Amino acid sequence: MASTYDFDLITIGGGSGGVRASRIAASHGAKVAVVEEDRLGGTCVLRGCVPKKLLVYGASFASDFADAAGFGWQVSAPVHDWPALIKAKNDELDRLAGIYRGMMDKAGVTVIEGRGVITGAHEVTVNGKVWTAERILIAVGGWPHIPDIPGMRDHAISSNEALDLPQRPDQIVIQGSGYIAVEFAGIFASFGVETHLVFRASQPLRGFDPDMRQGLMTAMQDRGVILHAGTNITSVASDDDKTAVSLDNGNTLRVDCVMAATGRRPNITGLGLADQGVALTDNGAIKVQDDAQTSISTIYAIGDVTDRINLTPVAIAEGHRFADHFYGQNSHPQANRPMSYTNIPSAVFSQPPIASVGLTEDEAKQQGLSIKVYVESFRAMKNTLAGRNEKSIMKLIVNAEDDKVIGAHMLGFDAPEIIQGIAIAFKAGATKADFDATIGIHPTAAEEFVTMRTPRDG
Ligand code: NDP
Repeated sequence: MASTYDFDLITIGGGSGGVRASRIAASHGAKVAVVEEDRLGGTCVLRGCVPKKLLVYGASFASDFADAAGFGWQVSAPVHDWPALIKAKNDELDRLAGIYRGMMDKAGVTVIEGRGVITGAHEVTVNGKVWTAERILIAVGGWPHIPDIPGMRDHAISSNEALDLPQRPDQIVIQGSGYIAVEFAGIFASFGVETHLVFRASQPLRGFDPDMRQGLMTAMQDRGVILHAGTNITSVASDDDKTAVSLDNGNTLRVDCVMAATGRRPNITGLGLADQGVALTDNGAIKVQDDAQTSISTIYAIGDVTDRINLTPVAIAEGHRFADHFYGQNSHPQANRPMSYTNIPSAVFSQPPIASVGLTEDEAKQQGLSIKVYVESFRAMKNTLAGRNEKSIMKLIVNAEDDKVIGAHMLGFDAPEIIQGIAIAFKAGATKADFDATIGIHPTAAEEFVTMRTPRDG
């Protein structure tokens, strides 16, 4: 029987999760539309991972220029052209947005431009026009949250604007010490910006392993980031041509730019959720069941708007599973594969980067596990001739009961590339004996992961 709806599926939000869900549903034969008010690509492609990583690459040349002298290079003082970098980055984003658009066209997905509001259990209204669908999928992601500190919302930029500054600031204050704060601190400091990181904890990156947090703190200081640990901002105000940032320790920083990197919130404003009775968590995220269904049976949600694990590859996996589950007639091998939220690796593209998979030492102890901890701290070979004292740190947490490796953490060059491989061993349930039986690749930093022999406490 022909459907009485305009579409089988309307997805609101053309970011990583929404695009994947729409494209795969269409490939299974569903009639799909995606509603997006901006270009396609979402946070990751347009305002997050991709432009951030391009700036991280740009910033990393600073230490390469500095280190080159140790290898005999005579390099005159390098000059950086900030607007040229921003233009090159924007050109690349234009290219990627075009690829996303092409992908949708090729998959036969209708792109509806505008802001979608849910006006019924099967209805999405865009620019006054009502579209209907059997199912609605919300994939609108998150949005930066700026704390309610006097003057902060008037003066502070978020990561959205920090990726697009027309000129390089001479000084910046960044508030927070999560992923975004430490990544941007590394970017700005490398480009020669006087960079102040103001954060309320004693170490950056709450939730990460304590050895990595301490190691990053030391490395950031050595690379010129000025750390204000255990410090809050009390007010922000204009001060002639600068911005005055007052701290609760009585100091005031006069800077060109203030950035809030204080978390993101589900992007639900104006979506019409309350009118439809879609239930939310206490944090304002959309509550979902395992199959992404919300409290309204025809409305589903995936990705950061559900505030579970807010990482692009997780949103993509959720979107893919949603499409297979509802449109793959359960014939696809992944159709009934439950989404696994354990052992998800992640990386912080700080300078140097951190990456990890599994439990931290603290988490393992909190779970009451009997553990063996292996830690190596060493100067990477490249740093010897470079004359750089920065240390790489690698750490394995092993469950003493069954020898399973339950945590792997690294601070240092290429940590994200290395931990991605280790994460596969995690999925396969590797033991410390499996790590020990693996021959290293020499000379690499990664080989340390298979040559650690003596537990720290043993
Ligand atoms: P995070 O949740 O990682 O960190 C928020 C930071 O802001 C913390 O340091 C927190 O302090 C601080 N903070 C929050 N509220 C206040 C306040 N009122 N006053 C002072 N400090 C405050 O958020 P981010 O913005 O860094 O990143 C958002 C999300 O984006 C991350 O959770 C991550 O999932 C994702 N992301 C992932 C990346 C990656 O995979 N490489 C890169 C960038 C983002 P405290 O620790 O004391 O609570």
